[in-house]
Amino acid sequence: MKANDLVTKDSEGLAVRTADIKTTLSRGLHKRCPQCGVGNIFEKWNRVNAACSHCGCDLQTRDGDCWAFMYLTTAFLTGIIILFMFLFLRADIIPNILPAQIVIALAWLVLVFLTLPYRKGLAIAIDFLIDSRFEENAAGQANKS
Ligand SMILES: [Zn+2]
Repeated sequence: MKANDLVTKDSEGLAVRTADIKTTLSRGLHKRCPQCGVGNIFEKWNRVNAACSHCGCDLQTRDGDCWAFMYLTTAFLTGIIILFMFLFLRADIIPNILPAQIVIALAWLVLVFLTLPYRKGLAIAIDFLIDSRFEENAAGQANKS
């Protein structure tokens, strides 16, 4: 274990060491449990498991904490599409813009739809990291007093 590894609690409340920030985010991006990296975050395409099947890490409650990240990443992807439209969908380049706009709108739908579970997995990993750091600080404060 590395010095910057996180300490979290398992389902019985026992301290469990987990991986560093980079590994935890990578696990989320690969739709794996942020705590152990073994269990799946999702039971179906975009339905979050209640808990990790391997380590029991609570996943379902983190689903509700993901909305801000999901909103911001959707806005970011939309911004990229709008930028693309401003750069390339000009009347002087493409004479009939409407079919191109329809293609771009469909591409946006596919982009947002296909990246959804990966973005949500990353959001759950970030939520896990924030909770881990918070618990770590709370434990540190309790030890000082
Ligand atoms: Zn797990």
